[in-house]
Amino acid sequence: MRFSTSQLLISLRSPNKAFMSNASLQITGSEIFTPMREMKHEQMVFCSDNNSGLKAIIAVHSTTLGPSLGGTRFWNYASEAEAITDVLRLSRGMTYKASISGLNLGGGKAVIIGNSQEVRNREQLFRRYAQFVNSLNGKYITAEDVGTSPSDMEIIASETKFVAGKPQHLGGGGDPSPITAYGTYLGMKAAAKYKYGNEDLTGKKILVQGVGHVGQYLVERLVKENAVVLISDISEERIRQISSAYHVTAIDKDDVYDVNVDIYAPCALGATVNDDTIPKLKCSIIAGAANNQLKDEKKHGMQLIEKNILYAPDYLINAGGLINCYAELEGYNRERALQRTEIIYTRALEIFEIAEKGNITTQEAANRIAEARLKGGEE
Ligand code: NAD
Repeated sequence: MRFSTSQLLISLRSPNKAFMSNASLQITGSEIFTPMREMKHEQMVFCSDNNSGLKAIIAVHSTTLGPSLGGTRFWNYASEAEAITDVLRLSRGMTYKASISGLNLGGGKAVIIGNSQEVRNREQLFRRYAQFVNSLNGKYITAEDVGTSPSDMEIIASETKFVAGKPQHLGGGGDPSPITAYGTYLGMKAAAKYKYGNEDLTGKKILVQGVGHVGQYLVERLVKENAVVLISDISEERIRQISSAYHVTAIDKDDVYDVNVDIYAPCALGATVNDDTIPKLKCSIIAGAANNQLKDEKKHGMQLIEKNILYAPDYLINAGGLINCYAELEGYNRERALQRTEIIYTRALEIFEIAEKGNITTQEAANRIAEARLKGGEE
């Protein structure tokens, strides 16, 4: 190991290697191994460095299809248990996302515990973190996530090659949002094809909730296709910028679930499809980039079927960012990344059909395809 810092390494594959540097650590084996076994995680790495104040957890969910890849989230968790829960959940999600997108990647994720805005020495902290990533020898490849930025990836890249989402001047793919938006747009078109018999979005009334990085590029594509675009955002400035740049109509954020639209595209927060909103929704398709749109996958997925609303699974149609990172590992080529993203269209159609035939939710159909590929049966 290149560093003297303590490292708690718990591995299901090689349990004998596990060691604890601090006997007073409060998390017990059963608290960690039980969820790891239930969620089928391979390995967790706890990273601590007193000098930089680093407290990080890397979770490798699966390396069945390739090295695990997933961003590093820098978040001020209320407790370590909350951070562990988040990293376990997010890393498993990456396995499914990579699998459904046909990538030769596994799923991993990392969290750094702390306030990302108040770091004493950001460079030192990210260098130490990168050394931990490096110690996994490519089993985990990191990238950007909430609280981390391309400049953080630049620091990480100075210590390890196992990083994606680098700026373009370092051979990276840069901001993934345009590719994410492209995938979301393709998923939306596939949903239109399935629902209306025609993928053309001309004249369709589409509400984009959240016009940040991804939302903006999605609006741009939809406007180009002559859709009737409505937007909402909690940022007045964002609303001003996007409505003047693309001549689209803004609606109040509180009216989002009451307006009559063809397509609702959640591109801000998760869990917006829930007990309160479903009874109000007047759309026939939900297709957006936000993660975890259904508050309760099963219950709310079924309620959407009952309301005859077609739901395009979020983790498939927002996979463009991951596909962009994957392209970086092969030597970045924008055209190739865009081309690979097109799998989202065909995969979405396949999912809609399986779901309808089996009377299961589209999310469940997506999960089954992802799991089949993980088990070695083809998609
Ligand atoms: P962003 O932070 O740039 O944009 C989010 C926008 O939503 C902001 O403009 C914010 O003001 C707005 N917003 C927040 N709360 C809102 C609310 N209640 N109502 C309306 N607007 C609200 O984020 P982003 O990178 O554009 O990502 C958007 C979503 O897509 C997130 O859920 C993210 O996890 C997901 N996602 C993004 C990518 C990517 O490549 N950026 C990839 C996969 C998934």
